[in-house]
Amino acid sequence: MADTDALNIPKSSLPRIVIVGGGFGGIALGQALKGKEMQVVLLDKNNYHTFQPLLYQVSTGGLEPDSIAYPLRKVLQGYPDFYFRLAEVLRVKPASKLVCTDIGELAYDYLVIGTGSETNFFGNDEIEQNSMGMKTIPQSLDLRSLILENFEQALLTDNLHERDALMNFVIVGGGPTGVELAGALAEIKKGILPKDYPDLDTRKAQINLVQSGEQVLQGMSREASKKAEEFLEGLGVQVWKGARVTAYDGKTVRTKTDLVFEAATVVWAAGVKAVSIEGLDAKDLLASSNRIKVNEFNQVMDHDGIYAIGDAAYMQSDKAPHGHPMVAQPALQQGKHLGENLVRLNKGQPMKPFRYKDKGSMATVGRNKAVVDLEHYKFQGVFAWFVWMFVHLFFLIGFRNRMVVFVNWVYNYVRFDREARLIIRPYKRDYKRFRRKKVSSDETRSSPVSGRCGPHENKFRSL
Ligand SMILES: Cc1cc2nc3c(=O)[nH]c(=O)nc-3n(C[C@H](O)[C@H](O)[C@H](O)COP(=O)(O)OP(=O)(O)OC[C@H]3O[C@@H](n4cnc5c(N)ncnc54)[C@H](O)[C@@H]3O)c2cc1C
Repeated sequence: MADTDALNIPKSSLPRIVIVGGGFGGIALGQALKGKEMQVVLLDKNNYHTFQPLLYQVSTGGLEPDSIAYPLRKVLQGYPDFYFRLAEVLRVKPASKLVCTDIGELAYDYLVIGTGSETNFFGNDEIEQNSMGMKTIPQSLDLRSLILENFEQALLTDNLHERDALMNFVIVGGGPTGVELAGALAEIKKGILPKDYPDLDTRKAQINLVQSGEQVLQGMSREASKKAEEFLEGLGVQVWKGARVTAYDGKTVRTKTDLVFEAATVVWAAGVKAVSIEGLDAKDLLASSNRIKVNEFNQVMDHDGIYAIGDAAYMQSDKAPHGHPMVAQPALQQGKHLGENLVRLNKGQPMKPFRYKDKGSMATVGRNKAVVDLEHYKFQGVFAWFVWMFVHLFFLIGFRNRMVVFVNWVYNYVRFDREARLIIRPYKRDYKRFRRKKVSSDETRSSPVSGRCGPHENKFRSL
């Protein structure tokens, strides 16, 4: 191993596994490696794990962000020879077996990429600049602020056209995220806005769910899709199908089918792509949605010692000709399986191929309304909603989080309320940040795959 411990990781005679990303996959992998005669280093740009399936509840004031985040250091507490570093991985140098981070470089024997995914705007810069994503906790808080600020502003304006636009929501994408968010906004419109804003005609608020395909929840059964649409319409959501959104300039949404919406809030839930890492982003290594091609052992094609899991990995098989779905189960299962395989590899035993067990899918539209597809059984309505709640509580990390979420849900259910409707950090669109991001992604990536990482600046405050 190279003589590098810029991150202050003790040298060890054990093989070092560096995991990039403490998401569902990274954590499952870390847990599978506990006490297995290997040094494990987990790197993440955040010091917490995010339970993304409940982000929409943060955006709509149903939950506080703390209840769906969990400190990564706590997940690994007490694990022998385990290290966490708060670091963003900038690039990988496979030939030198180094990862370059914003706090320095680190050598690895095995590297696992579990960096998840980000919103995919399909190259439409105008939509990216003006609409809201919902992939992280800060983005969810931004959306929460924007929704509430728009109502405050609607109260002040005399211009009826502007008032309507401030109360008009367009959610692009009829997958689970779009459906769940639309349902939650519709419930707020019905149960909370009239009480919070008695001097505003909140009946005029509109929730539009715009979908390019011919059905919502396309990955689920026809029954689930039909029922979800029925639930949404019952709640007053306007569902637009076969309408691909092509433009949004901050005021007007346009679709390919010539629909036009004047809206101050547009949420883009129409697609995701894997977070790509320089050094592993060669064209022939990436499949659709930027996912890294891996074999059935999660090993990155033609890269010895490098693996990818979860949303970041594209594993093709007869059963999954387009790779596994970008949802939590494949990430959890691949993380655990790869951990077991790395232990086998360390003992000189052959690795076992990964086989995905599809445990079904589900989505909720609102109170007492959910749809569940299991392999042999599909159901919708109140029971599905209880199943949805139980499954989400089960997969949340941390006893406290489970309790807090449970208590919040009971409270919200009994009181028809969502008390976290707070503008803690007013939302400001940061166009400068967007331009900086654009410039850096437009720069040619010519960093060699071998050699050292080069200098880095200390991102923390020095004494
Ligand atoms: C709004 C929303 C709702 C969803 N609902 C569901 C649902 O109901 N059911 C379901 O199964 N799935 C759902 N998903 C999808 C599910 O959350 C993902 O498939 C899952 O999180 C993927 O796990 P992962 O381990 O691959 O990555 P993630 O859980 O995304 O974790 C990636 C980690 O990598 C870190 N990271 C990224 N880049 C770097 C870097 N360069 N350096 C260091 N660290 C980095 C991130 O901080 C993050 O902690 C939802 C997703 C979203 C956004």
